[in-house]
Amino acid sequence: TSYPGVATTALLLAAASSGGLVAYADSGADNASEPSQEAPKKKKVVVLGTGWAGTSFLKDLDCSKYEVKVISPRNYFAFTPLLPSVTCGTVEARSIVEPIRRMLEKKKKDVTFYEAECFKIDALKKAVHCRSAVGTNLDGNGDFMVKYDYLVVALGATVNTFNTPGVMENCYFLKEVEDAQKIRRNVIDCFEKASLPNISEEEKRKILHFVIIGGGPTGVEFAAELHDFLVEDLVKIYPAIQDFVKITIIQSGDHILNMFDQRIAAFAESKFMRDGIEVNTGFRVVKVSDDLITMKSKSLGEVSVPYGMAVWSAGIGTRPVIMDFMHQIGQTNRRVLATNEWLRVRECDGIYAIGDCSSITQRKIMDDISTIFKMADKDNSGTLTLKEINDVLEDICIRYPQVELYMKTMHMLDIRDLIKDAIGDSHKESMVVDIEEFKNALSHVDSQVKSVPATAQVAAQQGHYLAECFNKMDQCKEHPEGPLRMTGTGSERHNFRPFRYKHLGQFAPLGGEQAAAELPGDWVSMGHSTQWLWYSVYASKQVSWRTRMLVVSDWTRRFIFGRDSSRI
Ligand code: FAD
Repeated sequence: TSYPGVATTALLLAAASSGGLVAYADSGADNASEPSQEAPKKKKVVVLGTGWAGTSFLKDLDCSKYEVKVISPRNYFAFTPLLPSVTCGTVEARSIVEPIRRMLEKKKKDVTFYEAECFKIDALKKAVHCRSAVGTNLDGNGDFMVKYDYLVVALGATVNTFNTPGVMENCYFLKEVEDAQKIRRNVIDCFEKASLPNISEEEKRKILHFVIIGGGPTGVEFAAELHDFLVEDLVKIYPAIQDFVKITIIQSGDHILNMFDQRIAAFAESKFMRDGIEVNTGFRVVKVSDDLITMKSKSLGEVSVPYGMAVWSAGIGTRPVIMDFMHQIGQTNRRVLATNEWLRVRECDGIYAIGDCSSITQRKIMDDISTIFKMADKDNSGTLTLKEINDVLEDICIRYPQVELYMKTMHMLDIRDLIKDAIGDSHKESMVVDIEEFKNALSHVDSQVKSVPATAQVAAQQGHYLAECFNKMDQCKEHPEGPLRMTGTGSERHNFRPFRYKHLGQFAPLGGEQAAAELPGDWVSMGHSTQWLWYSVYASKQVSWRTRMLVVSDWTRRFIFGRDSSRI
């Protein structure tokens, strides 16, 4: 008897499950979960970075269980989603930062913080080499070394110029708080410069041409902030030069905000067109000199435009220390550190990487599926019973959420239900399904697995997940989670569920008290009410009541008095 649909799906699930369990198993996390029998002292955990990933990890880590050392060149956490608001003085820089020592206050003496930069990770000696900007040694070079048992790398990313000539020298960036402060000062400089006597109209136009390279969320938000600053404040204080101002966005793709729903991209483009913000799509910047930006498009070839200020917001790159570490461990030709789904750096003992400096890489699921089938098909018959398939499916859906997700997208979950229904019916239960058929149904699962984006949301969730794993290491050894099949005797099995990213939606403020939002469940919301949602979400997401109050009071100040245009 054939079981057409059922057979296909059942095999798919079966494929995913049994072999996957073994093939994906990772000894690293188990190493991490080794009890501290040998070492009577607390294990040393070193955390590199105090951004979204690092602070989220520290916040949730039970620091009394470890000796924790935190190393970062900046002794504060910055709420990056509000950085564009700092560029035009909508909020003040100090309102979006929280001192790291204040955040660690509750952990008392369990945590040590060093304001220094890590310049080398030595995986063999289990040590990190650091340099303090203020100097700690007698010779004043400030170098020191810190040993670790577990290392949490949360170093974030740097700007990526894609080696475009002149970008480093002539463009502004928007990555750190200092960058936003520099932009703020330079915007005002441009207006003051254009107001000086003996400046020709052509020169004024050039000075007041603000170009944003990159039409992603950061570039778009900065363009919107700048436009608001202009129409709400600057036109009143620089009335003589208001007609010379121009804002341009250059985007290599066909649309701005192309990681958002198409409706949001279209809404943003039409709003910008109404606002007079020029959006040049399909252009790639090839050179930036001190007064010209040269870009190329397929249809128009090379075009050069004069500019007064250029902000480069076209992607993120790798920090030198990460690059050096990747060379050491053989992860060359990559932009970020490859980790497994338990966030352990591949092929490295006790080293975890979270946030923008890492990405989860998976072995090809289909390769594992073949192994699973071979293992499940003990008699080499090329078939499995429904009961066998159901067993492996259960495990696989817990361990490999991407397979479950894939089945959901392909509307295959109902087949799994059919299999479940068939179990218990002695007649159907013994039915067999063809393994090859099942494998074919799953053959596109690999291409459907999407990598998680480099966002604060992902970084914070990874930090939280890893802290939970660290907190539960001892318990998990004694009482492993999950079905017994998964955790039973095999020493190579994981004690933790893999990291699952939960997307909570994303915002794009578009200026003029309007915003767009993509919310879970394919919801899209745009306009003035969404801007109020943005205000409430960003106020609630502040890391402390202090910054929450500062940010809300900055917004109120801006509503009542406008933005401050002093160049300080
Ligand atoms: P970071 O937050 O960058 O932290 C890296 C940490 O490492 C820092 O503390 C840094 O000082 C430290 N460090 C750097 N070098 C060294 C070294 N050598 N040794 C020791 N420490 C070091 N994401 C969203 O989800 N929503 C948004 O709205 C959003 N808006 C953004 C707006 C802007 C302008 C920018 C720039 C980013 C935005 N992001 C947003 C992305 C988000 O900020 C990043 O994804 C997030 O910061 C990544 O967190 P992280 O901890 O990996 O890195």
